[in-house]
Parts: sequence; structure tokens; C-alpha cells
Amino acid sequence: MTKHQHNKGRASEPHGRDAPDTAPTYFECPQCGFLSADLEFGAGNGPCPFCAAPGDSRRVFPAERLRRLDGRIRRYHGEGESEIVVILVAAFLEAILEDIIDRILAAHGADVTVREVVLDGQRAIGGRIGRLFPHLTGEQFEEAAAELGYSDFPARWREVRAARNAFIHDSPFNAPQETIDASMAKQSMDLLGQAYRLFVLINNRFVADTHVPRCAPADGL
Ligand SMILES: [Zn+2]
Repeated sequence: MTKHQHNKGRASEPHGRDAPDTAPTYFECPQCGFLSADLEFGAGNGPCPFCAAPGDSRRVFPAERLRRLDGRIRRYHGEGESEIVVILVAAFLEAILEDIIDRILAAHGADVTVREVVLDGQRAIGGRIGRLFPHLTGEQFEEAAAELGYSDFPARWREVRAARNAFIHDSPFNAPQETIDASMAKQSMDLLGQAYRLFVLINNRFVADTHVPRCAPADGL
């Protein structure tokens, strides 16, 4: 299957893409979790294309804490701080992965306690990608990324994690890497930009697609 065959349901491109010093803005349907960069959708004009919920109370995605972290990363990149960029992008990608797994768990009907227990029980990034993600979605992360048009993303993400780990951790087998060069910082910035689009597509496929209501209706009690 080519990557172009899977464009159905592709989120529209976020505005802000031409102004790369800020995080892109998406809007979220609070009923089904569908995400879109469409400004009309964000303004609440018309029903949700997935669940037909009315347009009020659409929320901004990503959350403010990730937006602030994104802003710091871009600032450090502008200042040529390659080490800090790689370390913070690695942290950012892990935070956004946690966010997406949490959303998938919620779409499966897990309440906040269950989500906490599951995520606490699998804190390592390798386990979250290698075990949690396929259990919850029925697909390997690498397969899902490739089908959504981002086949290089997982391997490039692994390289950034390896560069971060080699820089931070001492090891009896390998000497710590003394520096992280500008090309790894550039690769990290590329991943940061792609991460939003890939994770929104994953969201729309595995969260919005389930059609499970996110909140129990408050009737009958
Ligand atoms: Zn919806």
C-alpha cells in the first residue's frame, strides 16, 4: 500500500505551518476527540464531521503545557543550543506519545484511574511503543506510522533517543558522547514538526474512529 492510499480522513494542514516559530493549533471535538486544523471547525461553524456533535465548546490541541515546551525548544534551536534541543524534543515526543495513549485508553472507555495505572505500569518509552500501542490499536506503531505517510518517523525518533541517551547516560560499555551536533538538532526539529501531524492522524484513526462516547450521558439518575 502506498502512503497516498491512506489519505481518507487526513486532517487538514494546521495553520502556522508557514510560521515555524510556533506550535501548530488544532481543534478538538469534545464529544469524540476528532482533531482538525480547520479554522471553521475551530470556530464551531457546523457539526463535527465524525460524530455530528454541535460546534460549541471545541477545545485547542495540543495542551498549553506542550505548547510552552514547544516554544522553549524553538527558542533554544534559534540560539544554536543543539544539546538542549535534542534532550527537550525527546522529552516532548514522549509527552505527546503519553497524551495519545491516554486518549486511546479513554476512547476504549478507561476511566482516569485505569489510565493512570496502565501508564504508570509501562513508564519506559520502548514498552509504550512496543507493547501498549499495539495492544490498544491492533497495529505496530511502525506500521501505523507508515500507513499514515510517516514511515521514517519511528527510526528517526529512535536515533534522537539514542543521541539523547548517549549524551546523558554514562555506561560501563560506552563512553558518554561529549557533544550533540547541529544535524541531530535539525533532525529533532523535523521530528517535532512531523509529530503533530502524525499524532493527529493517529488520534483521528484510533480515538475519533471508535465512536465511543467520551462521557457517560447524565440521564436516568
Ligand atoms: Zn465529534
